[in-house]
Amino acid sequence: MGSGTLRTPQMSASYPTVVIVGRPNVGKSTLFNRMAGRRIAVIDDKPGITRDRLYAECDHHGRQYQLVDTGGILFGDDDPLVEQIRVQVEVALSDADIVLFMVDADTGIAPADWDLAERLRGFDRQIIVVVNKVDSEGREDLVHEFHALGFENLVGISSIHGRGVDDLLTSIVEGLPKIGEHAESTALRLAIIGRPNVGKSSILNALAGEDRVIVSEIPGTTRDAIDMDIVHKGQAFRLIDTAGIRRKGKIQGSIEYYMVLRATRALARADCALVLIDGKDGLTDGDKRVAKISHDLGKPCVFAVNKWDLVEPPTGDLGKRTAIKKDFIRIIREEAPEMSYVPIRFTSAKEETGLDGIMKAVTKAIENWSTRIPTGKLNRIIQDALYEKPLTRKGRTVKVFYATQPEERPPVFVLFCNDTELMHFSYVRFIENRIREEYPMVGTPIRLVTRSSRERD
Ligand code: GDP
Ligand code: GDP
Repeated sequence: MGSGTLRTPQMSASYPTVVIVGRPNVGKSTLFNRMAGRRIAVIDDKPGITRDRLYAECDHHGRQYQLVDTGGILFGDDDPLVEQIRVQVEVALSDADIVLFMVDADTGIAPADWDLAERLRGFDRQIIVVVNKVDSEGREDLVHEFHALGFENLVGISSIHGRGVDDLLTSIVEGLPKIGEHAESTALRLAIIGRPNVGKSSILNALAGEDRVIVSEIPGTTRDAIDMDIVHKGQAFRLIDTAGIRRKGKIQGSIEYYMVLRATRALARADCALVLIDGKDGLTDGDKRVAKISHDLGKPCVFAVNKWDLVEPPTGDLGKRTAIKKDFIRIIREEAPEMSYVPIRFTSAKEETGLDGIMKAVTKAIENWSTRIPTGKLNRIIQDALYEKPLTRKGRTVKVFYATQPEERPPVFVLFCNDTELMHFSYVRFIENRIREEYPMVGTPIRLVTRSSRERD
């Protein structure tokens, strides 16, 4: 069976995309979890999206693809079904190499199925009608009815029991476009992300135009995900999913989760996020949601406050200009304390100022992503921290017997302690700060994991 993860290994090419569509309750989430190798869907009750359910990297016998479950887009109670279906189709249309059109053998063809079929018809993608809830051989006959929807490729499965799912995976893998044999690039992969209108395409143009050395636009194997190679001051960068940046106003009404989906997918392939913030607006909740994607994916991140020309004219008293910037930084730090490791740069895409500073910060953040702290040093830092500020709870004192760094990109630190229950969130934060005092690792998130010492072996 496949396996899914939100943390992605390094990928050199765009991955093909499989999108699941279907009206509610046909079993999309059950199939998604099975294909992604997950047991549960983490459902968030807020309208918007449940990212865990929406998107997964999957692997079937070495063929990798991204799986999107449009059922993971949560609509408000007052969004009619027809609107939900319209959006599902738009997402499939813009992203899918293969569409899994899921229907329910229990109920037969419902009006919403006809509606979906109508919209998917004549649309140049491979469509597999997945007839779900065919739980036993005796139910195979139920599949025939769905030929009436007008698609050639039908598969009967049981998402719950796994019946037929292997055959489905085989036809998916056969249908996937071949991954292009791009030469392995040493370019640093950067995803420019941010709310609509913060200036993403302006920055892209400034970066590409300034040096006038667009090497190539690299068509990915995923439809519409076009990467672009540039060289900035001698350093090669690959700008990820520039098509997603340029796409304007195609998807109405559903901008927010489309933005999050697209940014998540771009970041999965990137070494670093450049989160653009509109200097006129300050840091908004939307900016924080975008920034959190990179944090959750464990990717390096740089904040670029754009449109600075509108906030502060490029001429004038230097001291005053510095004070305004300091103030801006202070506010961002207060608003997003968990991302205090992220460097903040100021830019104007319009005036083409600040670009060097941004690209230097990006380069440095990616370098820091691979930081390795020698075990001896790590243990000394942690023992010093415990000594300086011992934590006693429920009459017991926290002890860390041993610490180690099993992973980088991002750095992960495992602390084997006497009792993980004692390790309070704020204490972990304190230890993280102590590590960062000696190894600042600017721009990169780190993970601290506590384990009971019994797990040490
Ligand atoms: P979604 O709304 O399309 O994501 O549907 P869910 O995955 O949440 O499934 C809807 C309901 O159908 C749940 O009660 C599932 O347990 C049930 N279900 C899903 N797959 C199967 C299946 O293969 N067989 C049967 N009998 N029930 C299923
Ligand atoms: P996107 O939706 O994030 O790609 O944003 P755009 O690049 O399309 O920019 C949105 C609007 O902001 C456009 O009208 C741009 O001309 C304007 N804009 C972008 N960057 C700057 C900047 O640095 N200064 C000013 N004054 N306007 C900008």
